[in-house]
Amino acid sequence: MLGEDIKYRKLKTLEIYRTAEFECKLGWFEILYDLGQKITSYCNHHSLSLPLVIRIKEKFGVLRVQLRIDADKTHSDLMRKWIKMAETDSSVVCEQCGESGILVMDGGRWHTACKNHRSPDSMLAVDFLAKQKEVRERREQNGNV
Ligand SMILES: [Zn+2]
Repeated sequence: MLGEDIKYRKLKTLEIYRTAEFECKLGWFEILYDLGQKITSYCNHHSLSLPLVIRIKEKFGVLRVQLRIDADKTHSDLMRKWIKMAETDSSVVCEQCGESGILVMDGGRWHTACKNHRSPDSMLAVDFLAKQKEVRERREQNGNV
């Protein structure tokens, strides 16, 4: 597996990422690299200017990619669809190592992690949300008494 350093440098070889900061761990390297490559070759092919990276970060456990796209709707809609797909893909890939992962609530924060990169007392997102709902309903019931 590639080290963080090599991953970072490889991302930086794509022009779209030249000035970008990555506010996430690089388990998502392949997702980011594929996305950057796809958008770059698409823009080259259609003689479009490359989108500007506003922000690339982890939020609520998944990847968030904000780009400023300067192209007409047909082109920008397609690129936004790819971004959305990349963000969705990140929810099943460990942010730390790139192995398959799952969205968990871990020590008070969301993250997507494989078995090795989440603590034993982390909760699967579905379980956590179910639990939250249960607590809320119980509170509401108590409030009505
Ligand atoms: Zn992992």
